[in-house]
Amino acid sequence: MKWNVSRVVAGVFALVAGSALGWMAGRQMPNPLLPALIGASVGVLLIALADTWHGYRLLEWLRLGTDSAAPSDTGMWGEIAHRVERALRLRENQAEHERERLSEFFEAIEASPNGVLLMDANDQIDWFSSVAADHFGLQPERDLRQRITNLVRSPAFVSYLQAGNFDMPVKFVNPQGQGMLSVMIREYGDGQKLVLTQDITERERAETMRRDFVANVSHEIRTPLTVLSGFIETLANLPLTEVERKRVLSLMSQQTGRMQALVSDLLTLAQLEGSPRPALDRWVPVARLLAHVESDARSLSHGRHHLSFTPAAGDVPTAAQIAGSETELLSALANLVNNAIRYTPEGGHVDVRWRVTPDGEGEFQVRDTGAGIEAEHLPRLTERFYRVDGSRSRDTGGTGLGLSIVKHVVQRHAGELHIESQVGQGSCFTLVFPPARVRASIEDARKGESPAA
Ligand code: ADP
Repeated sequence: MKWNVSRVVAGVFALVAGSALGWMAGRQMPNPLLPALIGASVGVLLIALADTWHGYRLLEWLRLGTDSAAPSDTGMWGEIAHRVERALRLRENQAEHERERLSEFFEAIEASPNGVLLMDANDQIDWFSSVAADHFGLQPERDLRQRITNLVRSPAFVSYLQAGNFDMPVKFVNPQGQGMLSVMIREYGDGQKLVLTQDITERERAETMRRDFVANVSHEIRTPLTVLSGFIETLANLPLTEVERKRVLSLMSQQTGRMQALVSDLLTLAQLEGSPRPALDRWVPVARLLAHVESDARSLSHGRHHLSFTPAAGDVPTAAQIAGSETELLSALANLVNNAIRYTPEGGHVDVRWRVTPDGEGEFQVRDTGAGIEAEHLPRLTERFYRVDGSRSRDTGGTGLGLSIVKHVVQRHAGELHIESQVGQGSCFTLVFPPARVRASIEDARKGESPAA
């Protein structure tokens, strides 16, 4: 309250000084009281004028915007200006803080993989995130304040919104034409609605695959089971000759073998899906893989095919190695060679080759002179239970899972499976492994760490 005292002092001073000056100026006059009074009035008037001037300056500052500093007067006006300025700055800071928080909040919503859209009580769009815009095909300049049902016309969505029962989300085909959307609505405030959108295309695809898979497995198991139970009934009820009995038993063992193969392939797939990627530091000698595959192939072919393995076991043994899981690699190779023999008629050729490319990649190639595969089937061959010729596959003991196992194995080793085939000419399946998983020579192996150059 210092300005209070100084103000009174200034007032008194102006009054006294004014009257003294008036007195002195009019002391020759018969009544010097009058000039003294005039002097005092002038003094007070000057003080009032100074006040008005300060007040006017403050008003001007407030009127013209408060971006510049407040007038730095002393006294009452100075304090008023200072306090107004402080209150304004405080409010500006708070508003700025609120703005920052709001923009952080919107940024967080934008970072979500799901879409968010806000609607008022009349279902007019107030705001939407860019993901929601993508899902519904909206544009901010065009679609804000529009009724949502004018823009999202999917019947499932419209009836969900109109029914007003938002306990469960609704699924429908993305209005953009691809994939599936799941949309959930939550009411808030005074009838406003929060719309949450999620792209569930992948989830739906996985779910369909899972359902198909279960249906396929059930079908594959039911068929041999039905055959087996028929044979069991025959054995139980019919008096069979020894020859007939042996034949029935052999057919039963064939069906059991089929189920065993199926269960074993299913287990292999489950293991491949459930276990971590094969290590990069476990080196499997290629020669050992080839020797294993060759012995299996020869016993499966029974001399009916011309088989060749390069490099051959008797030749200079390859020192190459692949980093990964021996069991998995063996399973992939065995499946390819097994297919080549099964789908190649007697007298045909099956060639298995290993080589390291100039880029350092490792390649296993299984080439046959079998019936070949029509181009339209090639992209689907690695799908589970996909068969070009179902009866041929089953007759030769196929499960329909071989190539999907091969694909899994090669992908887990960061490699690729290439398939080429020509009807009537034969097929060629190539497994390509990246340089990081390949040691080409004995030198590489000795170096220990470094892969093939
Ligand atoms: P399957 O157990 O039926 O052989 P795969 O997954 O191993 O199952 O192969 C899928 C399908 O691809 C086979 O049913 C067969 O029609 C075709 N196929 C695979 N390998 C060959 C090949 N070497 N020659 C011709 N067709 C083949």
